Amino acid sequence: MLTVNQRSYRAPTQPTVVVCVDGCEPDYLGQAVAGGHMPWLKRALAEGTGLVADCVVPSFTNPNNLSIVTGAPPSVHGICGNYLYDTASGTEVMMNDPKWLRAPSLLAALADAGCSVAVVTAKDKLRALLGHGMKGICFSSEKADQCTEAVNGITGVVALVGKPVPSVYSADLSEFVFAAGVKLMQTRRPDVMYLSTTDYIQHKHAPGTAGANAFYAMMDGYLGELDRLGCVIALTADHGMNAKVGMDGRPDVIYLQDWFDARLGPAAARVILPITDPYVVHHGALGSFATVYLPAGVSAASVIGDLRALRGMEAVLDRAGAAERFELPADRIGDIVCVSERFTVIGTSASRHDLSGLDAPLRSHGGISEQKVPLVVNRPLPGIDRNRRFRNFDAFDLALNHAQ
Ligand code: ZN
Ligand code: ZN
Repeated sequence: MLTVNQRSYRAPTQPTVVVCVDGCEPDYLGQAVAGGHMPWLKRALAEGTGLVADCVVPSFTNPNNLSIVTGAPPSVHGICGNYLYDTASGTEVMMNDPKWLRAPSLLAALADAGCSVAVVTAKDKLRALLGHGMKGICFSSEKADQCTEAVNGITGVVALVGKPVPSVYSADLSEFVFAAGVKLMQTRRPDVMYLSTTDYIQHKHAPGTAGANAFYAMMDGYLGELDRLGCVIALTADHGMNAKVGMDGRPDVIYLQDWFDARLGPAAARVILPITDPYVVHHGALGSFATVYLPAGVSAASVIGDLRALRGMEAVLDRAGAAERFELPADRIGDIVCVSERFTVIGTSASRHDLSGLDAPLRSHGGISEQKVPLVVNRPLPGIDRNRRFRNFDAFDLALNHAQ
């Protein structure tokens, strides 16, 4: 038994795999199962456990992946976005550096306790955070050809997987994660494995479409192989995904920096979009969550009422209110947190978003409307109260403490 971030876990008696399917709105699974594209999942739901859980808001990749591997909300682990305004240096920075982490991961603790641990992630931006302080294997599909024993705990990944390193904008980037997971399980049989994909497909293809079903059929095949290898599998998602367009098919955007510039003067307030990352082609850096840093002398209370009245805005909270409601680190979320509705996204200034890369109607995430995610375990979970609130960061608890 080991305790990490105030939760206790048993060491696994069977190889245990937690899978985070990026952007997996539960409806993707429902549509794919109904269409006959996921025979493994259909059986896992019948013989195991299928729950719908809440992810962390902001419903973005980094905060939720870190919640899953720490078993805790961002108020504990500190990662509240992909992108942050660093008040100490007065600069806007990516939050990929482990220096932002405030809590140890369960993966590191399991490795310290003697378990063999392997982590495979699609994009390299998550690798350093997920593998921080962890002895074992940790690499990304994106840089699978650059693995070293010192950094990644493994070499020869491309030969092991038998596939070329995929483009960062492709479904193959996620397939490589699953293929690597199966090969690692066949050859090294780690005690614990964490697989994390990318939402390239989900940003483009709605549930039930041919593009989505093909992705989920691919995934189902690999999960079936892991199941046949005797693995306990817990499948969840970092966040859901929704269409974010008006009836004209164009992105429905609240340009929040423009709103503040008109109200308080140019660049007086600073709007931060924590979805921002180097790979913006598929969402134009538009999501349903923003934080705002106000200039000295302007109170949150003086603008919150008018922000709440904006069409398409779902919730506007001051720092303390947002930290409490969404379990966020209060020192990293600015003075105001804004969350837009299901069909609406928040941008900075109209002139700063290049939407020319969008080759399909915008689908994105970040809001409360993308909080529902699947939580599936390929084992029955006796004694679990299905009526309680489940979080995606309960995945390791269910897999290690209830499914073995
Ligand atoms: Zn994601
Ligand atoms: Zn995304």
